[in-house]
Amino acid sequence: MRAHLQKKKRECHSRLCYGPSMESILIGVAAFAGGALLWLPFEYGLHLSFHVLKGKGFASRAHLDHHVHASWHFDPIITLAWLGVVLFGIGFSFALAAITSTVFGIAFGAGWTVGYFFYEWHHRQSHLRGPRNRWEAWLRKNHFQHHFGHPMKNQGVTASIFDRLFGSYDMPEKVKVPRRLAMPWLFDSEGNLLAEYQDDYEIVGTSTSTDERQRQIDKARAYASRTPEPV
Ligand SMILES: [Zn+2]
Ligand SMILES: [Zn+2]
Repeated sequence: MRAHLQKKKRECHSRLCYGPSMESILIGVAAFAGGALLWLPFEYGLHLSFHVLKGKGFASRAHLDHHVHASWHFDPIITLAWLGVVLFGIGFSFALAAITSTVFGIAFGAGWTVGYFFYEWHHRQSHLRGPRNRWEAWLRKNHFQHHFGHPMKNQGVTASIFDRLFGSYDMPEKVKVPRRLAMPWLFDSEGNLLAEYQDDYEIVGTSTSTDERQRQIDKARAYASRTPEPV
């Protein structure tokens, strides 16, 4: 018995028995990355479905209303979407843990959930502040072409792989942005388009505000996945 314990102790020293094994860590990292990558077809498919459904159902309405304003602000109702995503991620974890292993299941579900919040954060940021690197500059141009150029194109926000695969990727030389819906970070304090964005964006229309009549027109066009009018 004593000899057995001593043998085990020697093995533990050589295999790091006191923490998770290297194999578990590698499985966890790979499963997390796989879950995060699996978010991408969801990002593409869910976004496309919101446009195809034309306002049928809460999620489609919430997204098309986002197109009406083309801005981001915290609406408490968004917490329902966050809760839904977290519950779905937990469900993913349990289902996969049952058929694979606990480590794989938890890491995969966590990766998928983090993938969603990565998207959510960068979508929010794109509306609120200018880019800080080339990828953020691409993300903004890609996403605002979706808002102001072709709402049925560029369904992917953080990656374009599925748009390229299904022929819905659209990247013009310049994105035409209606002045009244433009992101505030495009302008200097006098309302002129900042020089650093002039290669990628063009401001169209002269109106700087939206009255109720225009809001109704914007809503009808957004719900039909048509571009907002430059007025
Ligand atoms: Zn947006
Ligand atoms: Zn959209």
